[in-house]
Amino acid sequence: MAYVNIPILQAAAACGIPHGRNAGGAEVRAKCPFCQDSQPRLYLNTAKNVFHCQRCKKSGNSITLYAERNGISNAAAYRELAEAVNFDRPPLPLYNRIEPETAMKPPEERSRIYSDFLQMLELAPKHRLNLQNRGLDMCSIERNLYRSVPKKHGKLYSKAMYELSNKYDLSGVPGFYRKNSQWHMATSEGFFIPVRDAQGLIQGLQVRLDNGGKQKYKWFSSNGFPGGTKCAAFLHVVNWEMGAKPFVTEGSLKADIACSLMEQDACFIALPGVGSTKGLEQLIHELGFSEATEAFDMDKETNPEVGLSVQRFYRLMEEIGVNVQPMRWNPLYKGIDDMLLARKESERLAA
Ligand SMILES: [Zn+2]
Repeated sequence: MAYVNIPILQAAAACGIPHGRNAGGAEVRAKCPFCQDSQPRLYLNTAKNVFHCQRCKKSGNSITLYAERNGISNAAAYRELAEAVNFDRPPLPLYNRIEPETAMKPPEERSRIYSDFLQMLELAPKHRLNLQNRGLDMCSIERNLYRSVPKKHGKLYSKAMYELSNKYDLSGVPGFYRKNSQWHMATSEGFFIPVRDAQGLIQGLQVRLDNGGKQKYKWFSSNGFPGGTKCAAFLHVVNWEMGAKPFVTEGSLKADIACSLMEQDACFIALPGVGSTKGLEQLIHELGFSEATEAFDMDKETNPEVGLSVQRFYRLMEEIGVNVQPMRWNPLYKGIDDMLLARKESERLAA
């Protein structure tokens, strides 16, 4: 039997996995049957016919998906799928709607464009207050360039898009896309958090959502749109200095806050999430440190899934050869930023 590429959506359907919305690009999201996730974090890639679960990290192709779900060999899975799947069906409309992705611009260019862009925008009073309440002083707020996402087609939006697109070619800069020969930006209600590399270059932007519910952050991304580009899950580095022993935590804003609340000079590396270690090994090799302090949220002690991710982190560090000291605090305070803010408050009251 000649090998036929089995479309991943059809394999998923044969496994009884309903798929949800298009996640942009060629990806479709579904709920992972392996870890029984309640959120759609299983990515089905319709271009490559592979799957990947962001939560349990399970991955494979159409055949291994079906084989594992049904507890049969890959050969048997292939035979069954090849019979079940109707290859005469026209490709799903999804294929036609997808724009080819534009390659991301190099970091220096992205950083220049993002810096310019942010300086054209404003920080709304409610967002400034939000940042102050988290423990950031005016100086750090200004230096870190937090800005409110402008309202779609509002005055500020139009002005920024006009000036920016006259000055730069925005193709390959995540968050921007072309429509009717004009440049636009992806908008949502919230404020931008610049995510920087060790040199301080802005690699990408995250948005802290005003009404995100469970999802509090999202990347400023424009994949699937003309001229648009997907934003990678960048690691955020704060205050890197040669020879530093960094704190590793989760979330760029948290790292910014914790860094500014620390009494002594400290360096922070923020993963986008506790399980998102992509690029960490490369970063460690670049920076060349061999000691770090782990400062993930305290739910690592109570939430078994988070605990597993933290264990994976320790294993990875051991493989790379980084000696990690764990940091623990009163679990009343979830993040290191909460703990540091509470400590500062109590010191202020005692003074
Ligand atoms: Zn999973």
